[in-house]
Amino acid sequence: MKLYNTRTRTAEEFVPLRDGEVRIYVCGLTPSAQAHLGHARSFLFFDVLRRYLMHRGYRVTYVQNVTDIDDRSINAAKATGEDYHAIIDRYYAEFKVSMAKLGVLEFDHEPYATQYIKPIQAMIRELIAGGHAYVTQDGIYYRVATFANYGKLANRHIDELEAGARIEVDENKEDPLDFALWKFAKPGEPRWPFEPYTAGRPGWHIECSAMARALLDPQGTGFDIHGGGADLIFPHHENEIAQSEPLMARPPMANFWAHGGLLLFDNRKMAKSLGNFEPLSELVQRHDPQAIRWLFLQTGYRKVMNFTEDSIAAAGLGLARVKAAYRDLAPATDGEPVESPELDRRMEAALDDDMNTAAALAVLYDVVARSTPSRERLAYWLGVLGVSPTDAWLEESAVELAPDFVARLEAALREAQVDAAVLGASPAEAIERVLALRSEARSAKDWSASDRLRDALQRCGVELKDSKEGTSWSVGASLQ
Ligand SMILES: [Zn+2]
Repeated sequence: MKLYNTRTRTAEEFVPLRDGEVRIYVCGLTPSAQAHLGHARSFLFFDVLRRYLMHRGYRVTYVQNVTDIDDRSINAAKATGEDYHAIIDRYYAEFKVSMAKLGVLEFDHEPYATQYIKPIQAMIRELIAGGHAYVTQDGIYYRVATFANYGKLANRHIDELEAGARIEVDENKEDPLDFALWKFAKPGEPRWPFEPYTAGRPGWHIECSAMARALLDPQGTGFDIHGGGADLIFPHHENEIAQSEPLMARPPMANFWAHGGLLLFDNRKMAKSLGNFEPLSELVQRHDPQAIRWLFLQTGYRKVMNFTEDSIAAAGLGLARVKAAYRDLAPATDGEPVESPELDRRMEAALDDDMNTAAALAVLYDVVARSTPSRERLAYWLGVLGVSPTDAWLEESAVELAPDFVARLEAALREAQVDAAVLGASPAEAIERVLALRSEARSAKDWSASDRLRDALQRCGVELKDSKEGTSWSVGASLQ
């Protein structure tokens, strides 16, 4: 299996450091505000990578941390009088609900930075003892000049990095690139004692170094894959390497560094200041979470991706094709072998090629169009992609729609003054297409169009039910 390694800037053959075992650390959320889909993209990719490595027979240990202290939560707590950790707990609980809806497997370890203060402080002491860190008036800083490989992961020259960092002048630092390992507490801030230094809190970068070492690599001989979004390469991951590697028996910190591409929304970054912010918790209610996953699977994980309402609607249609094929396949009867060697071989070839999930979806479309794979094997591979068939997939098939259903739906749409060509689609696809249009209308807050679409479906006997999990449909009594 080939996997792109940011560290070497090539797609390399993936071989775990220990036989049969893969250790993964992914930088998790800082839940001091609501998460958005941009955060979720890389978590969804690493979930699929983890599932595929498990398919390949590896025992996978997956660590995703929680940065449960930062300036934003402290400032929010100061402003509202609420405890900073209550804010963190609230946003993190909301994030976990969204992750569960998106089908992300539970993490093996979910370390909170504030529960690793002792290992973090131990690491800072070692860095000071080795001359890699120094104490100033406001904190303890990492001395970048002592680490010759600094800038290697980001593939940038130290002079270039210096020039970038100099914008932010800090009198306390020896060098503009130096960064805080420990911040001495200001009045009213949460603090942990750190003798003989001043009480305070850890910097963000050291948290990951210390938690990765504690949970995956106490011997200091490295673990397999360190992941995160591409925006973390510099400075966060560069700094993690600088902190960890001087203390290791045998670097590198991680054999593979894997990074997911950025997600844009209508060609812009999502930000409250740009007015295009939508919390993840709302997005997964407005759209079928499986369609969201499908959308990500359609795009190479390293590419910059642009999210639009049209693209999610199209992903829903692609998924509907596979759902319909799944429904049409007969379940295996007792004693019948559950095998589809062609499906297995082609799915592995696609995913072995640096997790080419777009090619894997093309394989699924092609195999179900040209042959009749085992339903169980198709379900298995959908599970590897994190889109396992649910009971609802089959319920949609339990109804027989009248042969002229699509034509009647089109007529109802015309009557409702909706321009929607559904001709040629199967009844299930036509319904999915109308649902996609309706969710588009709802996101544009065009309630009248949303109601007209629902009424058109209703006139054709299709009842909609909106819930937290999205919209489901069923065929009403008039048609049965
Ligand atoms: Zn990290």
